[in-house]
Amino acid sequence: SAGLADVKERTLIAVKPDGVQRRLVGQIIRRFEQRGFKLVGLKMLQVSEGLLAQHYCQLTQKPFYSSLVEYMTSGPVVVMVWEGHNVVQSSRVMVGATNPAAAPAGTVRGDFSLHVSRNVVHASDSLEGAQREIQLWFQGKELVEWDCWDQTLTC
Ligand code: ADP
Ligand code: MG
Repeated sequence: SAGLADVKERTLIAVKPDGVQRRLVGQIIRRFEQRGFKLVGLKMLQVSEGLLAQHYCQLTQKPFYSSLVEYMTSGPVVVMVWEGHNVVQSSRVMVGATNPAAAPAGTVRGDFSLHVSRNVVHASDSLEGAQREIQLWFQGKELVEWDCWDQTLTC
């Protein structure tokens, strides 16, 4: 239907090193599955400073950038591509404000985090940002097109 025209919208979500180390990967994936979004890409990796500088290209001049690099390279991340209606904006709502102090309970950051420098998760902030980040983190062949074999399932 016309209202679901953007059903193929995609966003990049990453569980940051603190989220992996605190064993939060499953709980975070569960929230996106439960909402009804479709997982189309998933991998774990140790991030390089080069990739990080591209990912956070708008932040490299910020005073906190060196501590952000230290944080984001402190262990592996789990990076994912999720697909579905309005997924970019909905994911930002599900993740909560950058500063967990301003993130309501019920959001990932509001439930699992206390400080902006350890805020557990990344979510793309716009359609354009999502497209840029997905291309940066994933090769095309790593993204999987799939549908439910049994169409009575909620797909
Ligand atoms: P978001 O992740 O919500 O999109 P930004 O893109 O503004 O937020 O910042 C990227 C990341 O940089 C944040 O998630 C956080 O890990 C870190 N960061 C942002 N602001 C600060 C800050 N003032 N001090 C320390 N780290 C920060
Ligand atoms: Mg951001």
